[in-house]
Amino acid sequence: MTYTREQILHTAKLLQPQLAKLPDLNLELQTLISQAEKGQPVEDDILSLLASNDRLREEALKLLSTDEKNGTKSASLPGNPTAIASTLRYECLECSKSLKSPQLGIIPKCPDHPNANIKAI
Ligand SMILES: [Zn+2]
Repeated sequence: MTYTREQILHTAKLLQPQLAKLPDLNLELQTLISQAEKGQPVEDDILSLLASNDRLREEALKLLSTDEKNGTKSASLPGNPTAIASTLRYECLECSKSLKSPQLGIIPKCPDHPNANIKAI
């Protein structure tokens, strides 16, 4: 399982408040986060720091797997054709006639205005 730099950084920031009682780890994590924000490749160091504490490791894994699901979902949204054509009902912008799509994903044409813009309703 590999995680993106953003996922790791995000998780580290979420977990940082829990390190308040562990000043040594907290300081180290803070340093790593600021290094990561400057573009240094310290993701592995952050992961091993989080893994050095049982509770943190558990929390980190939980956050990383939740984050991963969200990341996949939002990443697949732009340009997803089924997300755009999720309706069967359309309307001709010329004559406001309502048109029915024969199938999801297919935008119907107005019989009277084949070049008119069609909007989903
Ligand atoms: Zn029309």
